[in-house]
Amino acid sequence: MTVSRQFKGSHPILQEFVLRCKNFADLLYDEVLILDRDYNVIMANQALLHNKGWAADEVAGRRCHEVSHGSSEPCQSPNTPCPLVEALASGSRSRVTHIHRDKQGKECFEDIAASPISDENGNVVGIIELMRDITEEVELRKALEQRNADLATLNSIIVAGGKGLTEEKLLTYALDQILENTGMDAGWILLREENSRSLRCIKRLGVSEEFIKAILSLPTDKTLCGLAATKGQVAMVDNLSQDPRVTHPTITHEGLRAFMCVPLRADSKLLGSISVAGRDPASPQASRLQQLVAIGDQLGIIVANVRLNSSLRQYAHELEEARRRREQSASVVSHELKGVLAVLSGYTQLLRKRLESQLPQADLGKGLEIINAQTNRLNRLVDDMRDVSAIESGRLTLVKARCDAVGLSRDVIQGQQALTQKHILLLDSSEEHVEGEWDCDRIRQVIDNLVNNAIKYSPNGGEVKVSIERRKDEVLVSVKDQGLGIAQKELRHLFHPYARVHKEIKGLGLGLFICSGIIKSHGGRVWVESQEGKGSTFYFTLPLR
Ligand code: ADP
Repeated sequence: MTVSRQFKGSHPILQEFVLRCKNFADLLYDEVLILDRDYNVIMANQALLHNKGWAADEVAGRRCHEVSHGSSEPCQSPNTPCPLVEALASGSRSRVTHIHRDKQGKECFEDIAASPISDENGNVVGIIELMRDITEEVELRKALEQRNADLATLNSIIVAGGKGLTEEKLLTYALDQILENTGMDAGWILLREENSRSLRCIKRLGVSEEFIKAILSLPTDKTLCGLAATKGQVAMVDNLSQDPRVTHPTITHEGLRAFMCVPLRADSKLLGSISVAGRDPASPQASRLQQLVAIGDQLGIIVANVRLNSSLRQYAHELEEARRRREQSASVVSHELKGVLAVLSGYTQLLRKRLESQLPQADLGKGLEIINAQTNRLNRLVDDMRDVSAIESGRLTLVKARCDAVGLSRDVIQGQQALTQKHILLLDSSEEHVEGEWDCDRIRQVIDNLVNNAIKYSPNGGEVKVSIERRKDEVLVSVKDQGLGIAQKELRHLFHPYARVHKEIKGLGLGLFICSGIIKSHGGRVWVESQEGKGSTFYFTLPLR
């Protein structure tokens, strides 16, 4: 307990108060200061001297604002109301939190409760202040508030993830939230291209397009955000513009200083990276980096879910389409069957009647021809249905032998040309023979089907060209026509069973599916290029070895 030299001259009531509480005050952990009306320190307890590291004579006889704020004037201001002034003015208790500095200049928070000491007439003769260092509490509260804000950010991103947003919208929202939470000025999210090491920027905020272009122009292992996206490395830099690893002038000229970058990760799979940066010199804090890492991990999982959902939706849509086509096809097939059977039964009855009658039999041949054609149609239908089910169940068997793609194409062209005069069928091959080990009947079936389609879907005639080109390990066969062509949006489903585009022209929608099944089971590829109204080219390859 330190009692100042002003003690003697102070108000007797104040003196009596000091004497009564001095022993008790030294027992307290809280700091106690007794002041007269002129802000003079009349008494300071042990806890105060000890905590502040002051010697008794540094405090005794000085004014409170000199002691705690190092200022010659009372420290009343709108931001730091002085509890002493308030208690003197109001005659009642006052409580505030002040920011003080200890002898090392470290900022500390003080909870100050000032109570007036009054005489028997209610006149305030002095003030007793109880002070408690609440720096730890304040820091804990701040950390807790930050943690809550972090959790709120994370939560809002998780909630957004469940709202069925597109990947781009979700990441844009997340970046907004992250910048708000970290207080950074700029940010960008890079995503890895599927099945490749290259990156694309899905969203940038607060940085120029040139800056992002410069980053993307560099190899991924030469940028911090590239390393985060491809190697999972985390980066935290005080001054990005002066970091020795950053050499591209466009990147340094952007003027970014504090910088953090973390991977966007779904379990062990790296999807990309999130970068945030600030233009003022404040260093990013390690705790902010941890939060960003947590966001990167959560956001990665959400993005993976969004992707999964969208492929599930796509899959469901395709299943629905397939179901719809199958339903349609069932009616098309049964209609086709009924048609054939009606003709067959009509002509058989007709022939029977003719045979039973005594009429001349000269035109029986025509009827038999029709019966024969219908039987062939029926056979083809049955063959197609059998092929479809074999392909769908992966049971298509191939009988491989040496065959020649040029020879097979020539045969098909000759056969099909005999059936049309509106079309000119051409063969284009620089070699007489291009041979491989394939199922000859099946490959003939494919070429026949493609040439037949080229004719069928060129109702105004035109040229149909079959080209054969030997490549390194494969032969490329194409069938090009000048017919109706196919709209872009239809191309994706064209090789699915029962896919039909030109419904005005008769067909079952099985030919291309069967062609594709045959080519794929040979280890080849099949695709189409087409422009509506301009014609189509169907391609397939077959391995030569
Ligand atoms: P189908 O000809 O019996 O309908 P395909 O499976 O052979 O069955 O063909 C599926 C659909 O693809 C056809 O209905 C047609 O609309 C379209 N198509 C096929 N080949 C061509 C082509 N050369 N030109 C334009 N459309 C075609």
